[in-house]
Amino acid sequence: MRRWLEVESGVVSGEPSIGQPGGQPIDWWVMRAGDLHRFISLLKSEFDEVIGPVAVDGVIRLRPIESADDLPTGFTEQQETGSYRLLETGTSLRFSYGLGPDSLKSIVHPPRSPVWTMRRHDGTLIVDQALHGTTTRAVIGARACDLRALDILERTQTGGQHTDPAFAVHRQGLFLVAIDCSHPAPTCFCDTGGDGPVADHGYDIAITELDHPNGIVYLVRVGTDHGRSLIESLHLAPAPRTFLEHRDHQHRSISREFIRELPKDAAKVVRLADHPHWNDVAERCLTCGNCTAVCPTCFCTDMDDIVGLDGETATRTRVWDTCFSMEYSHLGPGPHRTSPAARYRQWLSHKLGTWHDQFGESGCVGCGRCITWCPVGIDLTAEVESLGRPVEANA
Ligand code: SF4
Ligand code: SF4
Repeated sequence: MRRWLEVESGVVSGEPSIGQPGGQPIDWWVMRAGDLHRFISLLKSEFDEVIGPVAVDGVIRLRPIESADDLPTGFTEQQETGSYRLLETGTSLRFSYGLGPDSLKSIVHPPRSPVWTMRRHDGTLIVDQALHGTTTRAVIGARACDLRALDILERTQTGGQHTDPAFAVHRQGLFLVAIDCSHPAPTCFCDTGGDGPVADHGYDIAITELDHPNGIVYLVRVGTDHGRSLIESLHLAPAPRTFLEHRDHQHRSISREFIRELPKDAAKVVRLADHPHWNDVAERCLTCGNCTAVCPTCFCTDMDDIVGLDGETATRTRVWDTCFSMEYSHLGPGPHRTSPAARYRQWLSHKLGTWHDQFGESGCVGCGRCITWCPVGIDLTAEVESLGRPVEANA
């Protein structure tokens, strides 16, 4: 079990930090661009793999990186319902963009995961359980909503009586470097649906990129003993108070940028099973499952069995599935969620409603990915708002 340091609700130099309640002391350090290179080199020497944001194929993805040069310097993006466009800014900022399609889910709960292989040997069948490598990974760029989503995923995968060993191994080897959001996308609503835009728990190290008049700096704080030992080995300078004030000002400005919100009665209205608005959404929904693929908390899977043509070997692989697929609800006589309306209702009513009954909280962290990556621009905040209106108002 990890131990998080109680650091976020703190004070700086004995005085309350602007925008945060008083509490425990916080240590803040300053990284310059050169220090960032040293930091990533240190991570490379400490972990088997370092993963970070990379501009690839017109999108910011999470990919293995070799150095700070791989980070997407001078990029931002435009996101809206059903659209994402990467733009060059010409600045030296490295983290001034909103979320891409990848979340931590693809690392701890990969799209394809081996389960077992089977082979014949001397007339008997031998089953070899898949071994899940103990690769250690540092991930740079986790956002506040993704840290919350990881908590939620952890509860679903390892919080009950039956735990997923693959998830547990991947999670165990994860070292998280959070980046506070400086440019949330208009599709985000983490301030009402989750924990963002500033990371306040679940990280080993957290970084705020500061576009300061004197140049770009990275303010660093730690969340675990492991994070502290790495940062202390870099011998960084402590952050002056003016930088912290600038950070608080930056965060206050960001908080004013959110334009979407999840209605407060979401958990209730998504249970209105007979509401006619489900049919309205179904007329637009392609049931493609993009929303479940990019959602950082959707975890449903299927098993893919392949038998060798020689009849001597077989493999079982766990693959992501989606409740938007007709086959997903296949019971004895056949699929029982045959209409797009039933499948969209299943997704939204579980995510925002019955997830509370199962796991004690919502399954949505307000990352907005399902809004950006829905090819027809379906926006769950707008759909929930419609479900909350009296039926005649939707007519
Ligand atoms: S809501 Fe959008 S992304 Fe999700 S299944 Fe329907 S069309 Fe695809
Ligand atoms: S339902 Fe949409 S906004 Fe909520 S966590 Fe999933 S992808 Fe993000």
